[in-house]
Amino acid sequence: MKSVEEALDILFESLDSALETESVPLLQAAGRVLSESIASSICNPPFDRSPLDGYAYRSEDGDTLRVIDEVDAGDTRELHIDEGECVRIMTGAPIPSGADCVVRQEDTDYGESCVHIARTVSKGMNICRKGEDYRPGDLLARKGDVITPVHIGVLSSAGISTVEVFRSVRVAVISTGSELSLPGKDLEHGRIYDANGPMLVSRLAELGAEVIDYRVFEDDAKKVAEYIRSIVDRVDIILTSGGVSVGRMDIMHSVSSLLGAERLFWKVDVKPGTPLLALRFRNRPVISLSGNPFAALAGFEVFARPVISKLSGRREFRNRLIRTTFRGVFSKISDRRRLVRAYYDGSSVSLFKGCHSSGALKSAIGTNCLLDIPAGKNGLQDGESVDIIYLR
Ligand code: AMP
Ligand code: MG
Repeated sequence: MKSVEEALDILFESLDSALETESVPLLQAAGRVLSESIASSICNPPFDRSPLDGYAYRSEDGDTLRVIDEVDAGDTRELHIDEGECVRIMTGAPIPSGADCVVRQEDTDYGESCVHIARTVSKGMNICRKGEDYRPGDLLARKGDVITPVHIGVLSSAGISTVEVFRSVRVAVISTGSELSLPGKDLEHGRIYDANGPMLVSRLAELGAEVIDYRVFEDDAKKVAEYIRSIVDRVDIILTSGGVSVGRMDIMHSVSSLLGAERLFWKVDVKPGTPLLALRFRNRPVISLSGNPFAALAGFEVFARPVISKLSGRREFRNRLIRTTFRGVFSKISDRRRLVRAYYDGSSVSLFKGCHSSGALKSAIGTNCLLDIPAGKNGLQDGESVDIIYLR
């Protein structure tokens, strides 16, 4: 049985080269992954400017000055002042050449042709320097960055209107289980509605992946294998849930044989979701999660999400691990490493009330982390240091 870390390394190593790239308008780039680093070609600000409304003058001059002009933000003239002169200046306007400081208007008599300064300022005061934010050649964003609204603001300030990004990761989601029905149909005795498929589809969308198809199959290995064969060339990764344990109807093993797929590993030393199966078929990973909805959720977050993040070209693709303080009581003895649905409030982590069985999902609503309890641990005490896997 592989450890979580070994299993992840195997998955990461199995991934093919980078995705193709495409050019997108900056305004549509939020959440996409940059496929190239971007350096600025300009200074920002592009000129020395005033951060306030006042008068620009030479610091060595006296406190009574001739006002020779007025400059507002957006004024493109190149003004100049000489000895004894000043220019009335508004926030964001360029500093006239010759001036080396700006006095705020509140410290003057607001004079129009001649101004008297009540509190003079020293050289360099109240001037926002050209290039103080960034200069030509400065790196504004790095290959593998997920583009944030702040990136977009910075790139736009640098005059950039399109960016090169990796195309989205394409995924097919398959729910397997002859007991599965779809909402909209009456539920016959012995059947359940699919929880995993829609959960994975919407989580994938949240992560910026493109779900090409989502299907529900009964436990029929031939049909599942046929479907995987038909879709594999159109996707980058296939996620399935159900049918990976050791029962007679655990069809994913037969699916693997029918496809002639390479088995990367089966079973990971963690609860829930131990029987995770990872295949490689036509250079694509196929990650088969255990069918119990919480096991599918945990398996997705711990294994599939980092794999999809790496596929997507993100520089930071591993899960965020945080050491924090446990609040509450947890009495279960864990023979195996255990992942428990929990909530991290920024300073401590606590458990959710409600049913914690891996078949129960409702009590996982609002989960923002998995409490990572090592094998052999005999419960948790209030105040104990613990590790969590933070779910972004
Ligand atoms: P399996 O992994 O196929 O052995 O399924 C384990 C448990 O999870 C069984 O009780 C299944 O009925 C249930 N299950 C499997 N797939 C789903 C699904 N897509 N949505 C909700 N429950 C499921
Ligand atoms: Mg099943």
